[in-house]
Amino acid sequence: MKIDHIGIATRQLKEAIALWQDALGLEVDSTEVVGEQGVRIAMLPIGETHIELLEPLTPESPIGKFLDRRGPGIHHIAIRVDDIRMALEQLKEKGARLIDETPRIGAGDCLVAFIHPSSTNGVLLELVQQQ
Ligand code: ZN
Repeated sequence: MKIDHIGIATRQLKEAIALWQDALGLEVDSTEVVGEQGVRIAMLPIGETHIELLEPLTPESPIGKFLDRRGPGIHHIAIRVDDIRMALEQLKEKGARLIDETPRIGAGDCLVAFIHPSSTNGVLLELVQQQ
């Protein structure tokens, strides 16, 4: 397993990229709109993982609501798994509260599923399977 990426909620991608790219020297690998999640993202590789900057498309989107409640900051940690369905099944068996019972298509056409922070020490967890 690997940390696939760390998701950071930002009000403006442009501003966040100015820090991570211009001040810290990371490169933006890709930007993408994930309509289903109401979000525009930028992926910046760092070592074996990525920083995923998230900007809400609307205030009502999950990231928009998160920013409203908590302001900018770490939103989720994503773990790469080989078999997302099996991982979900195992988590469910152990009593974890799943946000997604079945995987959906996320950024970069990966299969993704979220686990509720109430069962993961207050951290929103995303499982990612490359396809
Ligand atoms: Zn993510």
